[in-house]
Amino acid sequence: MTSIKRVTVLGTGVLGSQIAFQTAFSGFDVVAYDINDEALDKARTRFAGLAETYVADSVAGAENGKAQESLGRVRFSRDLADAVKDADLVIEAIPEILDLKKSTYAELGKLAPEHTIFATNSSTLLPSDIKDSTGRADKFLALHFANQIWKFNTAEVMGTSDTDPAVFDTVVEFASEIGMVPVPIHKEKAGYVLNSLLVPFLNAAAELAADGYAEPADVDNTWRIATGAPMGPFQIFDVIGLTTPYNVMSHGDEKTKKFAEWLKTEYIDKGYLGVASGRGFYDYSS
Ligand code: NAD
Repeated sequence: MTSIKRVTVLGTGVLGSQIAFQTAFSGFDVVAYDINDEALDKARTRFAGLAETYVADSVAGAENGKAQESLGRVRFSRDLADAVKDADLVIEAIPEILDLKKSTYAELGKLAPEHTIFATNSSTLLPSDIKDSTGRADKFLALHFANQIWKFNTAEVMGTSDTDPAVFDTVVEFASEIGMVPVPIHKEKAGYVLNSLLVPFLNAAAELAADGYAEPADVDNTWRIATGAPMGPFQIFDVIGLTTPYNVMSHGDEKTKKFAEWLKTEYIDKGYLGVASGRGFYDYSS
């Protein structure tokens, strides 16, 4: 057991609400912080939806009203000082804007108790981009979750050279306590483990199709049949949704930008955005 008992999550959007709910579901007291009442109202709706999803997806322990029960362990707040006053761990899941993260950590560093650990869920920023704003670089690191954390339960833990190893170990253990499979990363790496593997893989698939070497379905067939993997790269594109890969690729080198353009004209512009829209590389309408 770690010394972490009370957790505050900053930002109650897509990931923040999942992190807060999963943490409460695992028995911790949670404060969910967001900037205004409108955001907190949305959060209440998201949390209620998550309680239903846990039951629908048969998450272990969600039966017999336990998912609903965990809602009672979440307190909502739009006052940062109040939200963090008792926190042992603050997990930050606010928008991916460096200046916003820095100013939030600067304020947080002044308001949180001295012992409080800060963890960022940032997907694309390195913790060392942010650490100086925290005023406590030894107690700051990244704890990176995947979307739909109740199913895709990796938690990548990545510190900076200033992170206290004891803090790192505590966060690795905490990740297990909330039902995640922790992935300790020994030094800073943009993309952590998952995206360091996934992004080049998806780019390679896009190159094969966009440059006319092979059809997406045949690329997927090759990958599935020859490796035994359950999904090919274009099925993965469809699950992620095509907009996020498009945004990432449009900031890449010239070749990658060309694939981004292909994704846009052939799929996104036609409304083929992936599984969620009913059609992407494959048709899901039936
Ligand atoms: P989101 O836009 O869905 O939610 C952001 C939330 O932060 C909103 O509720 C917003 O009101 C709130 N917010 C804005 N300013 C704030 C502030 N100053 N203090 C506190 N809250 C504030 O974003 P998201 O997709 O949940 O992403 C949040 C973070 O999680 C990002 O760093 C992102 O890189 C990371 N992440 C996202 C995903 C994903 O699939 N969406 C996966 C892993 C990590």
